[in-house]
Amino acid sequence: MKKGKRKYAKCPSCKAEVHKTEMKMAISEMEKVDKIQYNHYKDLKIDTYNSFIDSNFDWACDICLEDKKAIKANPSLQNYSWNPNYAYYDSQLKCRNCNSDFIFAKKEKKYWFESLKFWIDSVPVHCIICRKKIRQLKLENTMLSDILKKDETDISSDELNKIIEIYTNWEKEERVKYYQAILKKKNSSLNPWVKTEIQI
Ligand SMILES: [Zn+2]
Ligand SMILES: [Zn+2]
Repeated sequence: MKKGKRKYAKCPSCKAEVHKTEMKMAISEMEKVDKIQYNHYKDLKIDTYNSFIDSNFDWACDICLEDKKAIKANPSLQNYSWNPNYAYYDSQLKCRNCNSDFIFAKKEKKYWFESLKFWIDSVPVHCIICRKKIRQLKLENTMLSDILKKDETDISSDELNKIIEIYTNWEKEERVKYYQAILKKKNSSLNPWVKTEIQI
């Protein structure tokens, strides 16, 4: 009978096929988790190494962890249904907005899954620059709608400046002109000196 080729666990961080002696940390971490999860752990006779073959969770071999290419994860702080992450390493992703490659860094992963408690299969879809732009746009939207709730005559000069700044960012020329005219009118009625100066 033909013997099938023995399958090895492939370190998701360095992509090397590793033997169980080269991933002691990951195996012992998984055993700890399983012991907590199953009271009858000893009766189960789980081949822990097998669980790492074709795995879809994050872990790393001992060399990656020693070289700090990957950092250890803390499963007890994560939200997961089947397997937690046992390590974090930098992953390259593609931004859904600008299509550029960006890094989902190991420390950022730790923060996402252990401090922010995001579900462990969550991934960022936008690069840092696009994320900042989107956040900025949301902020401007909120700011603008808060100011525009007011009666036009109650809007202060500072707020008008803010509106102009936002519409300038958005390249809304007509809106910029409109609010510049209101600001000009407001300033001249508040400060007669401006009016006089303009007339000279
Ligand atoms: Zn590795
Ligand atoms: Zn982007």
